[in-house]
Amino acid sequence: MANNNEQHKIVIVGGGAAGLELATRLGQKLGKKGKAEVTLIDATSTHIWKPLLHEVAAGTLDESEQVEYLPQGHRNHFRFRLGKMEGLNRQKKEIYVSPTLSDSGEELIPSRTFSYDTLVMSIGSVSNTFNIKGVAEHCLFLDTTRQAFKFQKQLFEAYLKSYIGKDSAHVKPLSIAIVGAGATGVELAAQLHEVTNVLAIYGLNEKSTVKLTIIEAATQLLPALPIKLAIATQQQLVNLGVDLKMGRRVTEISKEGITTHDGEFIEAELKVWAAGIKAPDWLSQLDGLATNHINQLIVDNTLATSDPDIFAMGDCAACLWPDHKGNVPPRAQAAHQQASTLCKSICNRLSGGALVPFVYYDYGSLVSLGKYTTVGNLMGNLMGTVSIGGFIAKVVYLSLYKMHQVAIHGYFRTAMLTLSNAFRRSVYKKIKMH
Ligand SMILES: Cc1cc2nc3c(=O)[nH]c(=O)nc-3n(C[C@H](O)[C@H](O)[C@H](O)COP(=O)(O)OP(=O)(O)OC[C@H]3O[C@@H](n4cnc5c(N)ncnc54)[C@H](O)[C@@H]3O)c2cc1C
Repeated sequence: MANNNEQHKIVIVGGGAAGLELATRLGQKLGKKGKAEVTLIDATSTHIWKPLLHEVAAGTLDESEQVEYLPQGHRNHFRFRLGKMEGLNRQKKEIYVSPTLSDSGEELIPSRTFSYDTLVMSIGSVSNTFNIKGVAEHCLFLDTTRQAFKFQKQLFEAYLKSYIGKDSAHVKPLSIAIVGAGATGVELAAQLHEVTNVLAIYGLNEKSTVKLTIIEAATQLLPALPIKLAIATQQQLVNLGVDLKMGRRVTEISKEGITTHDGEFIEAELKVWAAGIKAPDWLSQLDGLATNHINQLIVDNTLATSDPDIFAMGDCAACLWPDHKGNVPPRAQAAHQQASTLCKSICNRLSGGALVPFVYYDYGSLVSLGKYTTVGNLMGNLMGTVSIGGFIAKVVYLSLYKMHQVAIHGYFRTAMLTLSNAFRRSVYKKIKMH
């Protein structure tokens, strides 16, 4: 704990779904009243809610959905520091941040050290390649905003290539293969299909010049959803012309395409990997903090790691989900709930109170197939599990993002942002083309 003359230093590393909400709440509750110094450190200078990344990749996301950390910190009484954490010294209570470089490799900010009294790790997750040959070299990923923008650029260039080659007798359809039929893979496929239609309307493309394939090792897509909804989604994707290759385990990826365990070769110009997550590898050597087989920091029911001054939440934390024979799933609703619990605990910690136990409430899972439909299930104590689809599901799906926006902007600004986006979308193009 800090001595009496010094403010208690709370350092939050990672300003994603969990970290930005926590920094904003703690800034308002403690930073504003001078009760603590709240610092948020992130490797990037802007935040995009991660479930929107497939929209970034498809070029359909309005850029105003990005949140700049610096003004967010100024408005909400926390300090923002740009940089990538790379190390920890628990004895000295210090974290180490690597130098920030420009795109050309020039050092913009030197390496730095931050000291803490309470440290919160919320650095999220990355795709798990399972060490399959060629995945890291030839696949696109949707782990970060930068990767999503890279995907969008390559996608648009690939569309341009296929358009310019249209009159050639040898032109082939643009082929895109997505590995993984969880929510990310399925939502991305629907978005890409929608974009293809819009480009066809603009005259840049023909629907028939794009071939979408989803490859999945399991025999059912969307394993988190009830079988009835998975089948309905499967039918919808088939109707859209998406080629579903279920029960196929990927064994190798090359520049030309994807090989599965039964020897099939699927040609694909763009290959996207969306087949499971892990926490970043460097967490497994973080000054002796306990981690699991996918590098997540093991936390107890108060979200404390094996060091009582260090907490972890969101995708990088392994928190037992009692009665469910597993951990709390790596989902935005879990990140949101953990940020609320930790906010209470840290406030209590400063005033000598007890930490609050985290209890995860699963409100269900929803999957958006863009403009086509939204499907999912809702969990409720009174109703049990209810399957929903169509308009109601779309509204509930959007409400998860609205809850995140309310947590970081408040009700009034969220309402204004929603209105201004609706107006923008009615005036400007539906997709980004640069
Ligand atoms: C395409 C996609 C779609 C998804 N759709 C859904 C959905 O529909 N519903 C749902 O519930 N969940 C969905 N998820 C999962 C959900 O996004 C995550 O569970 C959630 O974002 C986890 O929040 P987090 O705060 O732990 O991590 P993140 O939101 O990923 O934030 C991590 C932050 O840490 C920063 N960071 C990383 N490393 C460092 C470092 N070394 N130093 C400093 N900063 C660092 C990153 O820049 C980032 O800002 C989706 C995920 C993806 C990728």
